[in-house]
Amino acid sequence: MGSNPYQLPPGVHVLERGWLSSNNVLLLGREDTALVDSGYVTHAVQTLALIEHVLQQHARPLTLDRVINTHLHADHCGGNAALQARYGCRISIPAAEVDKVAHWDQTALSYYATGQQCPRFRCDDSVRDGDSLMLGDLRWQALAAPGHDPHSLLLYCPQERLLISADALWQNGFGVIFPELAGESGFTETRATLDLIAGLDVRLVIPGHGAPFCDVRTALSTAYARLDYLEADPLRNAQNGVKVLLKFLLLERQSIALMAIPAMMTDIPWLALCNQRYFQLSEQALANWAVAQLIKAGAAACEGDQLVNVG
Ligand SMILES: [Zn+2]
Repeated sequence: MGSNPYQLPPGVHVLERGWLSSNNVLLLGREDTALVDSGYVTHAVQTLALIEHVLQQHARPLTLDRVINTHLHADHCGGNAALQARYGCRISIPAAEVDKVAHWDQTALSYYATGQQCPRFRCDDSVRDGDSLMLGDLRWQALAAPGHDPHSLLLYCPQERLLISADALWQNGFGVIFPELAGESGFTETRATLDLIAGLDVRLVIPGHGAPFCDVRTALSTAYARLDYLEADPLRNAQNGVKVLLKFLLLERQSIALMAIPAMMTDIPWLALCNQRYFQLSEQALANWAVAQLIKAGAAACEGDQLVNVG
């Protein structure tokens, strides 16, 4: 964290996390401090420690004033409640999610649908497409980035040519296009979001997962190629969705009894929906397929009667 390999402006700190938690971007200004995305709940203690470590490095004591979530997937806002308890910080979320958070509608918020956990937090205000935000003494534009998630936002700083891309663009692809799993439009939105990014003048992308990267052109051509591949046969996006959802739960739990996996294919709504719409397999057959895929990818292994996490 002391080194600055990406030539980030002095107040911008990227806390690169493992895949279970999104990256956290800490923006420290003279007047205020803000954090973009807060990781997954099971890493909340580590998230607090990492943030406190950066805040403590400053000559004058800093606190955290604000959290902004690019979108409300559990790996991007699972630390919100802990940060709110610790710092009393204001929490800003995409405008379309405000009512769901106010009523803590876990079905609408995707936690129930994915089998993931997210502790309840209170949101104080919202951010919408076109908003201009002062964060860490830098001016950022919030830009709508639907596709992976219908309500996701990008944060773009023209002055420094920085883009916080969340799960809309990674160095090697982008997040699962979730709306398509439910038969809703997502490919078109993903393409429009990539087009939007292609039109921005960007020096450095800070993605939601993985290391920051400078070669935006290459990342975009990889992303367009992947989108073409998925769109040509939507089953491919569903296959990716099933693998990602199972891998996420495996990362969280580290091991899952093989016997328990078929029932998960029915009990976890997104998995059941995917099966119904795209696979039409028995829960046992879908479980066997998903397990074999993770093992083939080197993301899991069988040990006795358990599927264990690898990597
Ligand atoms: Zn996401």
